[in-house]
Amino acid sequence: MSETDRSTEAGTCTAVVGLQWGDEGKGKIVDLLAADHDAVVRYNGGANAGHTVVVGSEKYALHLVPSGILYPGVLAVVGNGVVVDPEKLLEEIDGLEARGVCTKSLVVSSRAHVVAPYHKLEDEVRERLLSRGGGGGGGGGGGGGGGVAIGTTKRGIGPCYADKAQRSSAIRVGDLLRPDVLREKLETACRFKRTRLVDIELGDDLDPAILTERLAAVGERLRPRVTDTTYLLHDLLGEGKRILFEGGNATLLDVDHGTYPFVTSSNCTALGISTGTGVPGRRLDRVVGIMKAYSTRVGAGPMPTELEDATGELLRARGNEYGTTTGRPRRCGWLDLVAARYSVMINGVTEVALMLFDVLAGFEELKICTAYEVAGVGGADGAAGERTARFLPDAVELERVTPVYETLAGFGEEITGAKKWADLPTKARGYVEFVEAFLGVPVTIVSVGPGREQTLVG
Ligand code: IMP
Repeated sequence: MSETDRSTEAGTCTAVVGLQWGDEGKGKIVDLLAADHDAVVRYNGGANAGHTVVVGSEKYALHLVPSGILYPGVLAVVGNGVVVDPEKLLEEIDGLEARGVCTKSLVVSSRAHVVAPYHKLEDEVRERLLSRGGGGGGGGGGGGGGGVAIGTTKRGIGPCYADKAQRSSAIRVGDLLRPDVLREKLETACRFKRTRLVDIELGDDLDPAILTERLAAVGERLRPRVTDTTYLLHDLLGEGKRILFEGGNATLLDVDHGTYPFVTSSNCTALGISTGTGVPGRRLDRVVGIMKAYSTRVGAGPMPTELEDATGELLRARGNEYGTTTGRPRRCGWLDLVAARYSVMINGVTEVALMLFDVLAGFEELKICTAYEVAGVGGADGAAGERTARFLPDAVELERVTPVYETLAGFGEEITGAKKWADLPTKARGYVEFVEAFLGVPVTIVSVGPGREQTLVG
């Protein structure tokens, strides 16, 4: 980041994507960029995402509603690739309205899939079985994933996407507006689910009549917002409007490119924008990668730089690293630039926003992972290791690496009051410059606190 190479020009289409395992602070950056756009669009995931935006003294925790809702006049679009828990969505809308935020500009794709109550049950039961070791792992076939709980948010995300792929028992938002179709689909869905959820108290969550009534009522309330968002977005583009795509979750949780199987069930990368909205990737002219100045992860799965010691504890305490969606303590560790460079490559990132930089103040030294030492093939103790600067998105392979660090001098003073690049201590600037050089893309935004004003924009 230098005084001269910073550009805030908005293109026709901008994407904001997380480069790590989520919770990078995407909500804050979307909020910052939203004013320069006509629409903010979610294209993947569902209520598993948690975007925190602080406006003045007000803090908003958004899960399904795009962060752009906080800007009057900006259209907030939930695209077809999102899985919508309609009751949660209404709850969020009502919560925002109660706080004086107008939500009239929120629209939802009729083709987005519906997370039904039984999806959450399935998610819960599956996780419970797996954490008891009931998944039949142990044979090593599934490696790092067979029989091991993923640590999902239990928001029904995976089961809903599974139904989308399976088709016969899937329900889309448009179906909520047609009670006869809805009832028919729920009959089929409940029949299937009953065979799977045999050992639990089913209750109303698998009664098609009760579910139809409940979901149709929600559908009625959502009716004015339900539309074909693909045509809507193309119409906007035809009028020369500017669109901001807000990625839910993050690159290393992407179902294809993340640390499978410890991932979510959607394409969280910028690659998911095409399928999740119907807007082709070639329309993207700016991709902002959001990255914490260190690493965190919630749930299970490999995390090479994880620190299970006092330093990790300190990062968690200083960064207040507890989940927005589930409240779970996040696993913390040093910045992993091998992973970040992979994410920059996958997403076609054009610039990086470095978040929570203030959390690193006061550490005597700061470590940055720039390579991995891979244990010898077969995992035999003492086998010769091999050094690589490539990320290994396969969980079994990533589990076997040891991070190789560069050590940088820490900066002692707090930086939460910094207003511009020049206000940062030299050593802090050195950290950012190191990141820029390694990633090969400019760091155009540095965040030094949760407030809108605590943002250095280049
Ligand atoms: P699911 O998306 O609820 O199925 O969870 C799958 C994995 O992704 C779990 O490890 C979750 O903790 C993680 N995950 C999903 N969404 C987010 C997010 O927005 N931030 C951080 N972790 C997430």
